Amino acid sequence: MDCGNVSDQERCNICRDPRRNRSLLCVVEEAKDVVAIERTREFRGLYHVLGGAISPIDGIGPEDLRVRELLQRLADGTVDEVIIATDPNLEGEATATYLSRLMRTLEVRVSRLASGLPVGGDLEYADEVTLGRAFEGRRLVEH
Ligand SMILES: [Zn+2]
Repeated sequence: MDCGNVSDQERCNICRDPRRNRSLLCVVEEAKDVVAIERTREFRGLYHVLGGAISPIDGIGPEDLRVRELLQRLADGTVDEVIIATDPNLEGEATATYLSRLMRTLEVRVSRLASGLPVGGDLEYADEVTLGRAFEGRRLVEH
């Protein structure tokens, strides 16, 4: 299943890597967020790139993002935990809330990054240490 990451092949380097933990799935807005998280070396699972965030002002709704693909990837039960790592801004928050509600009925744990990321910014601009800590300190979403 396509993760949405940038790749010149059908599956990206991370998806092809047999050492990655397939029970962990990190949901990000953009492929550049994958690069930022990889730099922290804190996460050894797989990614799902949404292709943006929910933004009513810009007319972007869930149907414009790769949400259907996400649900398809969760369908076979391989993934135990979904880590929502959207940007720490309004659109990112709206997207995270939408996704955690959507996954409420699924047999999967949902977690969010710990606070401490610069609010209003982009995930990709967070430094490695801060982002690494946010991963380590991630918290489960009650849902
Ligand atoms: Zn991939």
